[in-house]
Amino acid sequence: MYKVFFITFGCKVSQYETELLRSCFTDAGFDPTDKPEDADVIVVNSCTVTGSGDSKSVYAVRKLRRDVPDAAIVLTGCMPQAAPEAAEKIAEADIVTGTKDRAKLPELVLSALSERRRIVEITPLSRDDEFEEIAYVPTDSHTRAFVKIQDGCECYCTYCMIPYARGRFRSKPLEALRQEAAMLAANGRREIVLTGINIAFYGHREGLRLADAVEVCCKTEGIERVRLGSIEPEMMLPDDLDRLAALPQFCPQFHLSLQSGCAATLKRMNRRYTPEEYAALVEQIRLRFPEASFTTDIMVGFPNETEQEFAESMAFAERIGFSRIHVFQYSPRNGTPAAKMEQVPDAVKHERADRMKALGERLAREYMQSLVGKTVPVLFERERCAEFHQGHAPDYTLIKISRKNSKKSLRNQIFYVTIEEADCECCYGKII
Ligand code: SF4
Repeated sequence: MYKVFFITFGCKVSQYETELLRSCFTDAGFDPTDKPEDADVIVVNSCTVTGSGDSKSVYAVRKLRRDVPDAAIVLTGCMPQAAPEAAEKIAEADIVTGTKDRAKLPELVLSALSERRRIVEITPLSRDDEFEEIAYVPTDSHTRAFVKIQDGCECYCTYCMIPYARGRFRSKPLEALRQEAAMLAANGRREIVLTGINIAFYGHREGLRLADAVEVCCKTEGIERVRLGSIEPEMMLPDDLDRLAALPQFCPQFHLSLQSGCAATLKRMNRRYTPEEYAALVEQIRLRFPEASFTTDIMVGFPNETEQEFAESMAFAERIGFSRIHVFQYSPRNGTPAAKMEQVPDAVKHERADRMKALGERLAREYMQSLVGKTVPVLFERERCAEFHQGHAPDYTLIKISRKNSKKSLRNQIFYVTIEEADCECCYGKII
């Protein structure tokens, strides 16, 4: 039996797809291992969201080639799909594929191994591509499951390669989603996170809305919580929010991708909202979900970003009061319009990233402190820590309770916890 090792440096979707690949390889008779040195096959699932994602994948392929010279190395995913010629030239990879036909990858690897030949098979994306279903049954003991409901993007933000790597909007059919949610519930999952490349456009070609997908999951017996992954703000309409607010299982955690709080920068990025529209959406959400938390991604050092524009972005982040900010430094991607714009020096990017991160930490601390004294339902997760039981509140705040007061396992159960203390990472409390 061939042993297979997986590695990815990517976004949440790439990580999730790596789990699907693991399941496909297991079904095909491979034996997953956590040790690359034991592997006969190493799968590097690349992500192209940032330039550093690309370089890390290529670096990993080259390093693994040196460290494990006898293993067959597979380079797959967004990087080869977006830049097939460059990927083909990475001679250290024995098998190179893109983002299509992932379920066939084990078969391809077996052919490469038995025929002792290099295989490069990067199928171009086409307008007729359908949502690719990869069947799997979870093998871990998590309480939460990610479900990919959407692929592709047609928004063409000026810094992003994803539309070239993932193609058109495609969505998981509702019936397939219903079946997957039921399968997950039957396997002990109580929480579902809906994820994808741009889930705001779920059902775009079929005349469906994201709320349809959320409703299907909420109606599944055994599923008690449903969350959204990262979401683009422009597609969240009042009617959608009303539908979500009517679902008790829906968790009010909104990771609304901002990228910049400055109107001029957003325009250069080809984002499709202004800061004022974003703020109006946050207000609409808060009206319906007073306990909502807002997290976001902010990119600093986008081409031509002036000190004044950056200051606007900082002020806007403070105005919204995010509970967490993921800060990224812009890195140019060849083939995108932003790569040809005037670049901000690296030293300026670093300095701005540090300032934005410091703001994010302060806002996180303030948000956590605002929860002290509240009582929230917590879904407890795997028992990983000797000192605390831990789980998440509906707004995705991490809550810990001491094991001294409660020794038996709380895993996969929901208890109400009164929050007594907080730091910038999590809250501490007692079960009531
Ligand atoms: S919305 Fe913009 S940033 Fe997000 S995947 Fe699409 S093009 Fe990329």
